[in-house]
Amino acid sequence: MIIPPTTTSAACDVVEGNYSDSISRGSYYGQTYWLNWEACGISGCSLLEPDPEKTLFSTCSPGRLAPYYVAVRNVSHISAALLFAQVHNIHISIKNTGHDFFGRSAVPDPLAIWTHNLNSLDFHRNFTASDFPSANGQNVGEMGAGVVGGDAYRFFNLHGMDITGGYEESVGIAGGFGQGGSVGDFTTTYSLMVDNAVEFEVVTAGGEVRVINECNDAELFWAMRGGGGGTYAVLTKFRVQLYPSLPIHTYIFVANFTGDNTTQSQTLRDILTAHANNQIEWSAQLVTGSVDYYPEKVSFGAVLPYGDDGSRLKSATAAFFQFVNNRTDMVVVDNSYASYATYTDYLSVSAADARATEPAGIFRYSPPDSCLAIFLLPRKLSTHLSKLWSMVSKRPELYLLSRQPKWFSKSQ
Ligand SMILES: Cc1cc2nc3c(=O)[nH]c(=O)nc-3n(C[C@H](O)[C@H](O)[C@H](O)COP(=O)(O)OP(=O)(O)OC[C@H]3O[C@@H](n4cnc5c(N)ncnc54)[C@H](O)[C@@H]3O)c2cc1C
Repeated sequence: MIIPPTTTSAACDVVEGNYSDSISRGSYYGQTYWLNWEACGISGCSLLEPDPEKTLFSTCSPGRLAPYYVAVRNVSHISAALLFAQVHNIHISIKNTGHDFFGRSAVPDPLAIWTHNLNSLDFHRNFTASDFPSANGQNVGEMGAGVVGGDAYRFFNLHGMDITGGYEESVGIAGGFGQGGSVGDFTTTYSLMVDNAVEFEVVTAGGEVRVINECNDAELFWAMRGGGGGTYAVLTKFRVQLYPSLPIHTYIFVANFTGDNTTQSQTLRDILTAHANNQIEWSAQLVTGSVDYYPEKVSFGAVLPYGDDGSRLKSATAAFFQFVNNRTDMVVVDNSYASYATYTDYLSVSAADARATEPAGIFRYSPPDSCLAIFLLPRKLSTHLSKLWSMVSKRPELYLLSRQPKWFSKSQ
């Protein structure tokens, strides 16, 4: 089933109406999370953000997206597409939601394999692995390649389980996320999602459908747990260890700095120093979350999945809470705790945060507008503050304007 691009007025209305909605953008082959990856030079079909009735380019074309794509519904469609591409010597791309930061699912002029409709979900209370009895186990989740984070969280929560997903609900959890970084709010507690993978169903480049695990293909299984989507095979199903659902506790701290000399700001320096001083203890207490440092403000969101009333998070962050509460050189907008019965309850909060800090349906510019980065910071940076300051002073545009989603994650 090869589908050329279509346009009907009803379809256009839906696209316009949901232009900045991350879930909706991931549901069409012709859209990516950021407009950068839909455009090619001065051509593309992106709409004008302030007036979505108008287009941005005078020439409307698929831009970096494929002129033809295979909207796959089962593994045999993928095998057929791969064999067709081989016979005709056509370049292939694999796209799920189009959330890739570097646009790797939007490749000019290929035959695209669009996996987003492979959205089955299943739960195995008792799981039997393929030819690998030692991987048999309990509470294993199964996701088709197109499942997004929010749907996975909600489905497994119905079974009383949490999955080690990311913090944003529209990311393709089994697609690019599950084969790449796979960092999330459960990472400090249960490790990365790739570390919790039990088994994959894949289609190899030759079109062969295989179920792989630690036993029957240790190398491919290893490579696909972090090697990056689209590198080794087309993943069609991801089977992953789940955990009994935990309450989610959060600590939010938002403050506006006074004064304007950012890199020399004593307030910013003091906050970063206090952050670094507390980091080792927060990691030891399994606290995770995200922090945004801006020239004019700081925004913390610490998260702890834990089976208590929130006391553990309050105790871990008490010293920092008092430190920022007592300061008079910034305007504290928020310095508070909250608890949610399940991760599903917390999802609306993380989705709102993502909408504010990483909006979909725009062009993503490099600094000074914004710069997004994920770091696994070396543990010693928290104990050698001069190294931290040297990093900040040398590359202020990188470190002060960057979102560092997993500063709190376990660092080495
Ligand atoms: C708002 C937002 C929040 C994010 N939050 C987090 C986070 O908390 N933690 C984190 O670790 N990452 C996070 N990410 C990064 C995200 O995990 C990656 O961008 C991921 O690659 C997206 O995967 P996708 O399948 O949704 O996107 P796509 O752009 O469709 O695909 C990404 C890559 O994977 C390949 N791919 C997709 N599906 C398959 C498949 N079935 N088989 C083989 N290759 C495939 C594509 O070819 C492409 O190279 C976030 C991204 C965004 C936009």
